[in-house]
Amino acid sequence: MVYARATTVCRRSSAEVLGAFRATVGNTPIVHIGLDIAGTRRWIGLKLEGHNPCGSIKDRTAASLLESIGPDALDGASAIVESTSGNLGVSLAHLAGELGLPFHAVVDPKLSPVVAERMRERGALLHRVTEPDDTGGYLLTRLDTVARLHREIPGAVWPNQYANPANPAAHRDGTGPEILRQTGGAVDAVFVAVSTGGTIAGVSEHLRTASPATRVIGVDVVGSVVFENRPGARRLSGIGASRRSDFLRADTVDGHEMVTDEEAFAFCRALDRWCGLRVGGSSGAVLAGCVHHLVRHPEITRPVCIAPDIGENYLRTLFDDDYLRREGIELHDDLLRPTPAHD
Ligand code: PMP
Repeated sequence: MVYARATTVCRRSSAEVLGAFRATVGNTPIVHIGLDIAGTRRWIGLKLEGHNPCGSIKDRTAASLLESIGPDALDGASAIVESTSGNLGVSLAHLAGELGLPFHAVVDPKLSPVVAERMRERGALLHRVTEPDDTGGYLLTRLDTVARLHREIPGAVWPNQYANPANPAAHRDGTGPEILRQTGGAVDAVFVAVSTGGTIAGVSEHLRTASPATRVIGVDVVGSVVFENRPGARRLSGIGASRRSDFLRADTVDGHEMVTDEEAFAFCRALDRWCGLRVGGSSGAVLAGCVHHLVRHPEITRPVCIAPDIGENYLRTLFDDDYLRREGIELHDDLLRPTPAHD
């Protein structure tokens, strides 16, 4: 009995939980890889957001979203509800567990099975939507479902990553300044995957004032409508959307690159095989988009790509040969193969 009392976990206030979490988020490393692009060696920085405690850039967003709710509202809440493509769900599930709150995550069929497990392990209650919206994506159906849960669960809070300015603010105040600090300001372009648009809008807002010469290039996947392209089916999760982000303004981006699922997968597999870096699908997409861009822009010599999450999330999809076979995907396996050294 003494033990039972001595080992009881004390419930902490939201300010304590978020303060302790904050201290472990951010300051992710930037590693550089050298690629031969059209016969020239080009160096690309990869900012590895998978080094955050729950494995993705969404740790930053989760902390910022929950802080924006305010300590009184959060301490008095009965539950957290949110729509997520996966990573925000893992971060919120972790924080909801620390806060002692149930977390209802609205997800869709593209959710990676590993991420679903990681959410469940942290106690999340998963609500799966199955009906695609008019664009073939699931975002609009997910938003309807989360709005319904928010109405039905008395006292539930909905951080709403799609509309809450705390989402871009996390990157305006965190990711953007870190990139400039880590590179000593020597960065001429930043490449960013876009879904809610929080990362790109926040990073861009910081760079526009602190480093106006740095270009901000969005990367999206074929089938997503973020940059007003035709809607269609797509496999990658996390990146892309079936609705244009509310955070993107006319001056947020200097350009964008479109990438196919297959290209993104191929870059992920190649980074894993030849560079020992196992990053997620959208990171492969960002690198592919960066390479497209560098081919046309020889003047860019110091690019940084934001790599949003860890590759372990995709062990049963893009890193699984059986999955690729089932999906009928053949990847070029000599991508990024090191050129033989000559003496
Ligand atoms: N890649 C991955 C793996 C993600 O989880 C997300 C967030 N949905 C993004 C890219 C896009 O980030 P944002 O929502 O800030 O546009």
